[in-house]
Amino acid sequence: MPERTKMERKFNFNPGPATLPLEVLEELQKSVVDFNQAGMSVLEISHRSKEFLALLTETKSLFRELMEIPQDYEILFLGSGASLQFAMVPMNLLNPGERADYIITGSWSKKAIKEAKFFGEAVVAATTEDENFRRVPKAEEIDLSQDAQYVHITSNNTIFGTQWKTFPKTNSIPLVADMSSDILSRKIDVGSFGLIYAGAQKNLGPAGVTVVIIRKYLAMGGPDSVPLMLRYKTHIEENSLYNTPPVFAIYAVKLVLEWVKRNGGVEKIEEINNKKAELLYRAIDEASGFYRGTAEADSRSLMNVTFRLPDENLEQKFIQEAAEIGLHGLKGHRSVGGIRASIYNAFPVEGVACLVDFMQRFSKAN
Ligand code: PMP
Repeated sequence: MPERTKMERKFNFNPGPATLPLEVLEELQKSVVDFNQAGMSVLEISHRSKEFLALLTETKSLFRELMEIPQDYEILFLGSGASLQFAMVPMNLLNPGERADYIITGSWSKKAIKEAKFFGEAVVAATTEDENFRRVPKAEEIDLSQDAQYVHITSNNTIFGTQWKTFPKTNSIPLVADMSSDILSRKIDVGSFGLIYAGAQKNLGPAGVTVVIIRKYLAMGGPDSVPLMLRYKTHIEENSLYNTPPVFAIYAVKLVLEWVKRNGGVEKIEEINNKKAELLYRAIDEASGFYRGTAEADSRSLMNVTFRLPDENLEQKFIQEAAEIGLHGLKGHRSVGGIRASIYNAFPVEGVACLVDFMQRFSKAN
């Protein structure tokens, strides 16, 4: 069995907050006591200090470089999680009476459309709910409105283990994507999106900061009734410093971005993510009488691998025995049950190999 990292670190399959690179954690640990020899903790520096401004600028430019973000997009670091974006998007992009299209591929999309309905007409352009969200819709199943202000998708469905492989074509209508659980995991063309948002706690860092990548012109309209704090325009004009931003979380994101860069950038990370997912799906398919993948093959997520065992008792046993050998966090979301292995960017290949080895032994023994 592959060796585990020092201090008996578990292989952490949690869906988010999720595993982070150990070297990032060690750097964070140092900075909590002394940030870059400033004689202060990173928890103590002012968000108006030159140290923090430099850090913010560097974090933005790393994002721009790694994701190849065009200049007409702004990168924002906001508090309150991706769930606030469910509301901020329609609040800023929809005027009363205007319409937005939502493609419903799981629980997070459902939460997103629920918020949009407070602000305008939010229409379901496609849904796979009647198939228990085991795939994302095909292009021909998507019925877009001519006059939609935007089309909203969830690029990776953390709970159901599905992911868009190619994104819907929306012509000139801005595509808005919740990329909370797959941002930076694969190469994407940012220019084909109007707005991308992602809570940090899976691929980017700790909970507490949400990244918004927005084509600037989209932030300029919106009803006057939107509170200043909830306007993208405010945060663009103030460089994410309208109020005190989540300083520590942003710092952690910077370290994660540097880690991605050191490890060959998004292209290389994507290659490794493909390899990890392939290993795991192969293990499921090879024992298909015992393990059953819940997502349809062409919608399978590279980030959250979901599967079932013959019955719930065996699933419980699987989770428990896996935990006993340091494979932690494999329980499926409470709303769907089963097993979910979340294998985000920072999750090591060795951990996947360990799980595959365990799965083979477990299916034989049971
Ligand atoms: N969108 C997706 C795809 C998610 O996976 C999650 C959280 N797991 C959320 C939104 C909600 O994020 P938050 O808890 O940061 O509000």
